[in-house]
Amino acid sequence: MKEPMTQLPCRVCGGNTFAHHDVLWSDLIAQWGLSRSEAQYINVQQGTCCTACGSNVRSIALADAILRHAHATSTLNEWVEGYAAGACNLLEINEAGSLTSVLEKLPGHRLVRYPEYNMMALPFENGSFDLVIHSDTLEHVPDPFQGLRECRRLLRRGGACIFTVPVVVGRLTRSRKGLPVSVHGSEGCTDSSLMVHTEFGADVWRHVLDSGFDDCRVVPYRYPAGIALVAGVS
Ligand SMILES: [Zn+2]
Repeated sequence: MKEPMTQLPCRVCGGNTFAHHDVLWSDLIAQWGLSRSEAQYINVQQGTCCTACGSNVRSIALADAILRHAHATSTLNEWVEGYAAGACNLLEINEAGSLTSVLEKLPGHRLVRYPEYNMMALPFENGSFDLVIHSDTLEHVPDPFQGLRECRRLLRRGGACIFTVPVVVGRLTRSRKGLPVSVHGSEGCTDSSLMVHTEFGADVWRHVLDSGFDDCRVVPYRYPAGIALVAGVS
């Protein structure tokens, strides 16, 4: 899969310069069964960063999807200062990459973290939020369908769950049940909260629809490295 030669501006801050470092290590690439080109775009997703604000392609893709859902043409930094954003009740489940420091400027922002809060059973009323955001969390949740059903339950009509997961676009989703333990984070990391339960593939949209959402949009900022999903409630 060829990566684009040009890099679009950062959707968080508008920056135009990027730096890259590889983040995958050989054991993880082997466990995940990634080809060279797949490892290359996952490295871009996690390790190509805006030099102005530090956001990686994954976080920028998430920001881009939030802005497109809100029909905003501004950067995320500008959007959170605006009137429309001010009226938005947003639940962030675990820190969404570099976006937390931006999203927390919203008056209606609420951040919950694992293990104090479990995505599969959240203590909020039905229809409490306009947006539910998470980033590279769902692959670590033992039952991703239940995680998404909880997000769906918490949303009002017209709301959306906007999220990223690392997607290997040329294959189907597989569970790691029965396979050797695979942990994200960094080489040698044994943090059980970063254990991978699901490796998502091209059928990731089925998880969204099977969890009760009314639609699923795949929003590319930089395909295939930087894509986000918008799971809508109508
Ligand atoms: Zn930036």
